[in-house]
Amino acid sequence: MTRMHIGFDDTDSPRMGCTTYIAAILVEKLHKLGASFTDYPNLVRLNPNVPWKTRGNGALCLRIRCEQKIVKDIKETVIKEVEENADLSYKGTDPGVVFLFNHVPKQITAFAKRTIQDVVKMREALRLVEKFDAEAVGFKKGRGIIGGLAAIGENLEGDHTYELITYRTPENCGTPRRIDPSSVIEMNEKTSPLTFSNIDPEKSRILITPRGPDPVLYGIRGENPSAVRRAHEIVRSQEPIERWIIFRTNHGTDAHLRTVDSLSEVEPFNPVVVRGVVAEDLKVITGGHVIFTIQDKSGKADCAAYEPTGILQAVARKLLRGDLVEACGGVRPASSTHPMTINLEKLRILKLAPKVVLFNPKCSQCGKRMKSMGSKKGFRCKRCGFRSSKLEKVAVEDKRNLRMEIYITSPRSQRHLTKPLCRYGREKSNAPKQMIVDWHFP
Ligand SMILES: [Zn+2]
Repeated sequence: MTRMHIGFDDTDSPRMGCTTYIAAILVEKLHKLGASFTDYPNLVRLNPNVPWKTRGNGALCLRIRCEQKIVKDIKETVIKEVEENADLSYKGTDPGVVFLFNHVPKQITAFAKRTIQDVVKMREALRLVEKFDAEAVGFKKGRGIIGGLAAIGENLEGDHTYELITYRTPENCGTPRRIDPSSVIEMNEKTSPLTFSNIDPEKSRILITPRGPDPVLYGIRGENPSAVRRAHEIVRSQEPIERWIIFRTNHGTDAHLRTVDSLSEVEPFNPVVVRGVVAEDLKVITGGHVIFTIQDKSGKADCAAYEPTGILQAVARKLLRGDLVEACGGVRPASSTHPMTINLEKLRILKLAPKVVLFNPKCSQCGKRMKSMGSKKGFRCKRCGFRSSKLEKVAVEDKRNLRMEIYITSPRSQRHLTKPLCRYGREKSNAPKQMIVDWHFP
């Protein structure tokens, strides 16, 4: 028997398609050819901050065992399916497929890690393909080879989650999705926190349905396959479901965030976790976005909490100069209009500076709060007429309405990779031992 890892990426475009759908079709086809699956299909989200990506940046890997004599058929089936379903006429859609045999070398796993946290080059991917006798097929610029190889390398041996994705029938694609919203609320009540990111409680918005023209009807995320399966059975769809499949993923694991020791190590396009002290008074710009600067001995960076981040933006508004925070998010390079900026996904409050409010002194004769007679001219009591040029304003420490905890962008603006609050403490440290791959196709 031959072990085979099949990675592919970059088949979709903003106007059509979904690489996960190709995976779902291929699971059916490879199963019929006689392949057996050694893992759930893996859906690996790569660095969401790479400059050329505007969508989810998800790559796929299918891991199978099969007889040597069907390897050729399998390869042909995969290449044909990618070619037929990719939006090849779209500029910027550059699909790639990678086949790797037997075990996954550590170097490819390290490459995957960098593809999730950093920016990698095509030639690095091609060098690894050659070194480990893998096979790569690229369409157009073939940039998808990078993601395909990364999906193979990310074995999800550490923290991981699951997503059950349902697909629409072709005639419904492009029309509004019809599912019963009350059934999603019911599903959330019955299965959360073993499922997550179902709804945004702030806006009562359903999050399991995407908005675009892709074939996904809805996706349910959760801690284990049985939780997402049970949740799917509670959701009532008012349109036919062509097929569904469960993926094992790095969704909701913060896999993209890398902790650095100082602000001088923050680099454009590298999602980061970094500490700093709020250096200046914050700015609220048009649209309600909050910008503040943090600094340490090594340098400075701006942080941005955009309006859709909801709670994060509200928390950022309360920061004061001198607060010690940990900023987490993608890094936008400096431009002519702004310095390098961390687009916040999370903000941890580590230390709050005292908030000092100055009051006029109380009258030493009658105890009433006095009135100022003008800058440096002293104070006068309105009740008894007492005057003093010696008294000064009194400093009183005011309460800060912030807790020493982590604040996370509201669910509606969380990235695929952002670990939601309900997952803290549920992180997995091992790959699952038993695999019962679960799907339904027509
Ligand atoms: Zn008085």
